[in-house]
Amino acid sequence: MSASPKRPVVVLGISGSIAAYKAVELARLLIKRGVRVRPMMTKAARRFVGPATLAGICGEPVHGDMFAETIAGELHVELAAGADVVALVPATADLLAALAQGRVGDLVRATALCARGPVLAAPAMHPRMWSHPATQRNIRAIEADGRVQLVGPVDGEVASGDHGLGRMAEPAAIADAIFGLLGGRDLVGTHVVVTAGPTVEDLDPARYLSNRSSGKMGFAIAERAAARGARVSLIAGPVSLPTPPAVQRVDVRSALQMKEAMWGALGGEALDGADALVMVAAVADYRPKQTHGTKIKRRGGGIQIDLIDNPDLVAEVGAARSGARPYLVGFALETADDEAIVDIASAKLAAKKVDLVVANHADDAFDKDTNRATLVTATEADALARLPKRQLADRILDRVATAFNAARKSDHAEHSRGSR
Ligand code: C5P
Repeated sequence: MSASPKRPVVVLGISGSIAAYKAVELARLLIKRGVRVRPMMTKAARRFVGPATLAGICGEPVHGDMFAETIAGELHVELAAGADVVALVPATADLLAALAQGRVGDLVRATALCARGPVLAAPAMHPRMWSHPATQRNIRAIEADGRVQLVGPVDGEVASGDHGLGRMAEPAAIADAIFGLLGGRDLVGTHVVVTAGPTVEDLDPARYLSNRSSGKMGFAIAERAAARGARVSLIAGPVSLPTPPAVQRVDVRSALQMKEAMWGALGGEALDGADALVMVAAVADYRPKQTHGTKIKRRGGGIQIDLIDNPDLVAEVGAARSGARPYLVGFALETADDEAIVDIASAKLAAKKVDLVVANHADDAFDKDTNRATLVTATEADALARLPKRQLADRILDRVATAFNAARKSDHAEHSRGSR
């Protein structure tokens, strides 16, 4: 990694509901995406899920006692001050009542009241408890205060087997809401290189070979990576798109110029200048053997133009890379049917030695604002629905963030082995 990014901190407050076991899954989802999770439990929560499970998953002590003698200072103040988000998952009817009234009977409640940043609560209870006027009065008070964001509850089956509004939102939805509150800045401290647009191969001063790439997908990835905190180098072929905020852009024309700019951004042969390369550009496979200095004259009788191979830029990086960095994302734009596209993408993954291939269909992708893609790795093919290109960019960057986090963990493990 180019610099060690600060991990966002979520203080996870668990209260006593059967849904407490889902807090473990939430913790896992957050940790997987680089969040430090500091768990705290109410007394009742300990009856539903074991502190040892949470301590194991989070790699952190599980707090519960406001007056623990081993802790210097005030624990609720320390936890609240260090939290980027305080997440109350699940939040019982009683915890919501406490939030509505500002009651602080235990560590979870006191930390929520003391929070500096956003607080999120995921209510979970029997539908009759949720619909009770007292609970609804508390919810109105919480909403009026505007200090706690509620996620759910959702309609569905609850523990008793009854159905209705009261079931806790799913961990993935809660994780998304937490990342929304964190500003989704999970790429802070990383350098992401993105190539975008077509390349243009000049034949003479008036004519060229190129393709229909608009650059929209690559620019969306650059924009979202910067919004998620990465330093972004965008190497763009000729396109008429504005530079996304906080993105460093280098304009190029031909494949050979793109190659030079790409290797420069990656730190040269050592490949130590970037954490990821997202190769979206539609690099021309061929270029004219000869570029004429003056306009080729019309002579009649047809014309033969010799084309030679352009280098495969991402395959060059795949071949030169010895470790896990930079993480390599390639695109495969095909005209075959869906099933064949995944096979072609898998073959490209292996041939180019990249980590992820975004496979899509020319009809879905070119010059559109939406795209339908399948994310192909060595182990799976994840077919996504049609999405706006910005959202697809985020799904691709989720994979990149997960890979960075795995790399951080293995660095950490190596470091601890080395220092033993
Ligand atoms: O083999 P194909 O051109 O379909 O591979 C597409 C992927 O390879 C894209 O990620 C594209 O940016 C990259 N590529 C490249 N250099 C080339 C051709 C394609 O890096 N000359």
